[in-house]
Amino acid sequence: MIRTGHAPSSAPRPDATSSGQGKNQASSAPPAQPARSQRAASGLPWRGSFPWRSHDPGEPCRLVGRHDRGDCRPSSRERLSIEPRPCSENGVANMPTKAFLALVRLRYHAGMSTVTAPTIHCIPVLADNYVWLIEGADRATVIVDAGEAGPIIEAIESRGLKPVATLITHHHGDHVQGLGELTRRFPMPVYGPDSCRRVGVDTVVGEGDRFTIPQVGEFAVMATPGHTQDHLSFINGQAIFCGDTLFTAGCGRLFEGTAAQMLHSLARLADAADAIGDGATIYCGHEYTTDSLRFAAHAEPDNADIAARVREVAAMRAKGEPTASASMDLEKRTNPFLRIREPVLRRAVEAYVGDTIENDIEAFAQLRHWKDDFDGLARL
Ligand SMILES: [Zn+2]
Repeated sequence: MIRTGHAPSSAPRPDATSSGQGKNQASSAPPAQPARSQRAASGLPWRGSFPWRSHDPGEPCRLVGRHDRGDCRPSSRERLSIEPRPCSENGVANMPTKAFLALVRLRYHAGMSTVTAPTIHCIPVLADNYVWLIEGADRATVIVDAGEAGPIIEAIESRGLKPVATLITHHHGDHVQGLGELTRRFPMPVYGPDSCRRVGVDTVVGEGDRFTIPQVGEFAVMATPGHTQDHLSFINGQAIFCGDTLFTAGCGRLFEGTAAQMLHSLARLADAADAIGDGATIYCGHEYTTDSLRFAAHAEPDNADIAARVREVAAMRAKGEPTASASMDLEKRTNPFLRIREPVLRRAVEAYVGDTIENDIEAFAQLRHWKDDFDGLARL
């Protein structure tokens, strides 16, 4: 599970885009507890707005530490890096989710109907990374990430594909270090975050952007900070390319971002999948499913869907098949990081902490630390 080859962290990109959302209650307003309870009772943990979206960008996220209730626990929050901060600093003041989901629906139900559904190829690179090739009409192909050029070039040439663009999810070396050699061999535009200009991104994109690659289709861009500050996910039809943000049965480690950012990013990916509907599928940056499921089964030992998936993934890996893509429906049933509002998992996290947990961000942060402990990794 220990990743190598990551480039040094770049300075965080200022996510200062004002959402204009949540024109607001007074800052001393109590948390929107009734709404949260209703959502929890609905059995749909990621539906609806999240509590920290309910105030103006720039104001502290008062719900995080329950400062208004006087029951905050500074030492815990400091350790978890989830102390209240202005939303713009937390990176959650992005495009209003409703507007983004409207965009996704529009692209999928209208724009995508004019394009043949692409074929997606999985190319293993480095130790456990995956590059995804999105093959559209006439073999025009979009490449997602470029950790190592050789296997990508070999895959393209052996399949007779025509690379027309590369998309970069984030700045880590195991996602970009093959980009120079790749674009020297196949000159093409490279879409990605501003932080990756230095490694070859020439078309900077960010939250809410959309662009069309001829013969492949339209892509929507979602900022998904948490693993890194600059992380982007790309949505094309039913496919969500989420890099190192959401993994099959797991999620990326918090190298640069906070638990609040990652939780928010995962929630928005789940919301986007809901907007796409049945068939929404994630494509991840690493083959981590076996290890992630080991933890999932540890955290939820009575979850039959997780037990079944453990057997299925073991059989696939025995045949050398990749397991880093999966339906979001399966993820919501088996990925603990998408299930922190499930009472059984919340109780398990509280047992790990040895204390009660009263908000989603702390629960998420503790779950992430629990997995790091489980993996034998040093705490961040
Ligand atoms: Zn990474």
